[in-house]
This record gives sequence, C-alpha cells and structure tokens, in this order.
Amino acid sequence: MFLTRLISGFGDLLQLFFPSYCIHCSDISGAGQSLCSGCRVKLIGLDELEGMDHYLKGLFDGRLPLERACALYAFKERSPIQSLLHGLKYKDRKDIGREFGRLMGEDLKEWKVKPDFIVPVPIHPKKRRKRGYNQAEVIAEAISENSGIAVRDIFERVEHSGSNTKLSRWERWENVGESFSCRSIDESAYYLLIDDVLTTGATIEACIGKALQNAPGSRWGVYTAAVVWRD
Ligand SMILES: [Zn+2]
Repeated sequence: MFLTRLISGFGDLLQLFFPSYCIHCSDISGAGQSLCSGCRVKLIGLDELEGMDHYLKGLFDGRLPLERACALYAFKERSPIQSLLHGLKYKDRKDIGREFGRLMGEDLKEWKVKPDFIVPVPIHPKKRRKRGYNQAEVIAEAISENSGIAVRDIFERVEHSGSNTKLSRWERWENVGESFSCRSIDESAYYLLIDDVLTTGATIEACIGKALQNAPGSRWGVYTAAVVWRD
C-alpha cells in the first residue's frame, strides 16, 4: 500500500518536473503516456468494428493462405493512431512501438494456436541506418518479451525503391517496389509476420510469398498495430 502510494507519488512528481505531452494534440498527458486521455478514447480497437475480421481475412483471400490476420487498431487519417504511427516511424518514439508490442503480446497469450516465431517485416539497410531502427522489429521484440515467443529475423530487403513519387499515397506507406530475400526456414513451423501498419497488404504478400516459395509447408499469420479502414 505504502509502496503503491510512493510509486504513484513519484509518478506525479515526475509529471510535475518532466511533463509528457500528447503526440496528437500536444495537451499534457499522463507521465510516460504518448496520448492524453481524450485522444486515447478516440483509438478504434478492431474488436469495436463489426465485420473487421472478415475484412482482414478477405484482404488476403486468393493471395495468401493465412492462418490468421489481425490488427490492434483501425487506421484513420488525422486521427491519434496516425500520430502514433508517425511518431514511431519518424520521431524516434520507440516507446510507442514497445507499447503496441506489449498489447499484442498480451493478446497472443490468449490464442489457442500460438505461432512458433515472431517475424518482423524488414526495412532497407539504408533506411535503417538513417532512422536508427526498424519499427517492426521494435514491435516484434516487445511482443516476444510479453509472450515468450522468439523473434526470427528471416527477411531482408534486397532492392531500394528509390523515388516512389509515382506510387499512390497508400502504396508509399508500404514502399512497394522493393523485394525480399528469405533465409531458409522450418517447413513445419507457424510464423507470425509483424508490421506497424497494413494498407494494401503488398509488402506482406511479397514477404510471405517469398517464404512460401522456399518452404511451402510453413504456416503464416499476420499481426499489425493498425490497419487502414475505409468505411
Ligand atoms: Zn491528445
């Protein structure tokens, strides 16, 4: 009791000297919180959207044989989830990726059939050097810490897309045009591919397609922090 009060008191004190600001509206948020409470309630969990399971599965119908396709949140433009993803990708906010991964890891614990390995979607080495990290890897590592399932880094980007101004807005998010190489993998394993946001599914299709060429018996699922939802 005393310890809880001490810790919460310490949090208040930290907040007083080092206030955190909401990444979406710049209002003061709780200590260590990337969103204020007003913006947090605007996040749309996929469990709140009717038909989303079918939408996600349908997105890959006839393209990939997936065991499972899921996401934490629906992505809407100019919404708090866009600010979170932007912060994670471009503003060194790895804490946001770790929080996504924590939630995804907690969810994974409830799955009846669990994947054997967590696999991050890779980014090109040039981009990684510039950014300092791969956001999908940050999420994957946090999932692993919370679920106990090991991370396997099996894909590599092999071609840089260069200028991608001709691509559509959604395609640019995913940098289609790059291709992947896949290390040798276990035919009998179930892999869960992790990314920050799912838009057209082109990146995921390219990765898993490559893996299935090399190991047709491997099983695959997809889990992203957000999925573009056009209603
Ligand atoms: Zn806010």
